[in-house]
Amino acid sequence: MSTLDLHAVAFPTLDESQLSRLAACTGAVLRTYQKGERLFEAGDRDFKLFLIKSGEVEILDESGETPRTITILHAGEFTGDIAHLTGRVTVATALARMDCELYEVASSEVRHIVSRCPDLGDLVLRAFIARRQILRESGQVTGLRLIGSRYSHDTFRIRDFLAKNRLFYTWLDLESDPQVGQLLSHFGFTLADTPVVTFAHRILLRNPSNRELADAIGLRPPLDHTVYDLVVVGAGPAGLAAAVYGASEGLHTVALDRMAPGGQAGRSMRIENYLGFPTGITGADLAERALLQANKFGAQLPLATPALSLRFDNAYKILELEGGETVTTKCLLIATGADYRLLDVEGCRDFEGCGVYYAATPNEARACESAEVVVVGGGNSAGQAAVYLSGHARKVYLVVRGDSLHKDMSAYLVWRIEEIPNIEVLLQTEVKRLSGDSTLRRVELESKETGQRRAFECPALFSFIGAVPRTEWLPPEIEKDAKDFVRTGPRLSDSPHWNVRRHPFLLETSRPGVFAAGDVRSGSIKRVASAVGEGSMVVQFVHEYLKEM
Ligand SMILES: Cc1cc2nc3c(=O)[nH]c(=O)nc-3n(C[C@H](O)[C@H](O)[C@H](O)COP(=O)(O)OP(=O)(O)OC[C@H]3O[C@@H](n4cnc5c(N)ncnc54)[C@H](O)[C@@H]3O)c2cc1C
Repeated sequence: MSTLDLHAVAFPTLDESQLSRLAACTGAVLRTYQKGERLFEAGDRDFKLFLIKSGEVEILDESGETPRTITILHAGEFTGDIAHLTGRVTVATALARMDCELYEVASSEVRHIVSRCPDLGDLVLRAFIARRQILRESGQVTGLRLIGSRYSHDTFRIRDFLAKNRLFYTWLDLESDPQVGQLLSHFGFTLADTPVVTFAHRILLRNPSNRELADAIGLRPPLDHTVYDLVVVGAGPAGLAAAVYGASEGLHTVALDRMAPGGQAGRSMRIENYLGFPTGITGADLAERALLQANKFGAQLPLATPALSLRFDNAYKILELEGGETVTTKCLLIATGADYRLLDVEGCRDFEGCGVYYAATPNEARACESAEVVVVGGGNSAGQAAVYLSGHARKVYLVVRGDSLHKDMSAYLVWRIEEIPNIEVLLQTEVKRLSGDSTLRRVELESKETGQRRAFECPALFSFIGAVPRTEWLPPEIEKDAKDFVRTGPRLSDSPHWNVRRHPFLLETSRPGVFAAGDVRSGSIKRVASAVGEGSMVVQFVHEYLKEM
């Protein structure tokens, strides 16, 4: 889409009849605002949406040193962005530039626009998505400010959390940014408090945990104290698909994730084999769209909310969360996927987050601009990382234990790698040792064929070596295979934990009403499309199960 087209989608002008139709279907109230009055401020949650009947509204970014106008809205236009649907705090401030007549739409009504007035609802939703894209592409929004050292593990953890959740933020590196001393004292902090997170004087946090940060930004909407139809654990592709299908089919659905939406797919800078995206899509874009879609249908999606354990009370499943919180549900979907295995090499743990990475996104790519880097692994994720990093690093060494790239990597990626001059593939090679000081400096490799060792001066190593399922939180009633992936399907009717007279459905575990989908499932195909397919199929089985209850 051209910039002009994108702008037209982001800021449509409604005629008078559309405006009053939208006002009527959202129960909006017409009010007069005086020049200079603030309609909402950066950091507000549950802020209202305004339809402009007359006058002008200025949208400002106040998160930086000096306020900056983002846009000016006129009669027929409306305020708002996707934060209305996701429940996050707003990044912008709005004020009346002159006396205005505005229809005020309560935040709780905005979600219903899409279902209650479908044609105008679609137009509003498209505008919200386009506005986010414009803001992101402009790169001008300061957003949250993170002040911390590049050598601090917590600084990396917070950056990782903010990036995975696609929040606007600016990182001020203690080691190189001349402004930080002044800024810290401006907010009443000292060096010892870092890393700190601030936002427009509304959020001031000292080394917050992910959960504290999520609470402050609105990523953890409160859970209902009723019984859900479907609780999904894990918001990767499988969990998001289940949330979209479940909520759109009227199931009272919650999908929680310990970190951010998107799971492993969220770490991919280019998914090229997912149906319908011939030029590829980043995992983060796919996840953001899915999150919005699930929100639009009314699913709740608390993030930074790890499931700690599961127990049963007759047919009810009770999930235990941090702080003693519990969620009760009739059906539960295990969609906790898998994590990359840690590299078992001397020195590796010391450099996690400051030299050793398990994802290759812009967040990590900053660490290797114009340097030599090592990518370890022979699968598609390692291949994608090497291709992506070749655009940032001077040279990428792709280290593979096997004797051919073709064994575990899709042919299209192997061809691409062969054509990129600054990627060198080192077959039958292993990483032996990592060393450095406060950050990684040196990687030693060994040829399995000759035993010869080579050392590289290198600030970053990216590891993608096989996956471990995230099933440690599950009770013994949920049967797993020898590698800890969750077993599903009719053969489990022999399980001592199976306590009803029918056979389990295809994606049902050894406990009735508990399902598994995606990478966490024994025998699954480790692809985005298959995870999405399984997540959506589960919803059909949930309906069948609920009929039995
Ligand atoms: C870098 C990379 C590139 C890839 N590229 C492609 C590609 O191009 N094409 C393709 O088809 N596939 C690709 N894959 C594989 C694909 O991403 C996975 O198959 C897919 O993401 C699996 O989806 P899932 O929902 O089953 O699990 P995951 O994506 O693993 O998601 C699981 C989610 O569960 C959450 N979770 C885990 N434990 C808990 C807990 N206790 N409580 C709450 N939440 C929890 C995690 O935070 C995570 O968000 C790639 C993978 C990687 C790592």
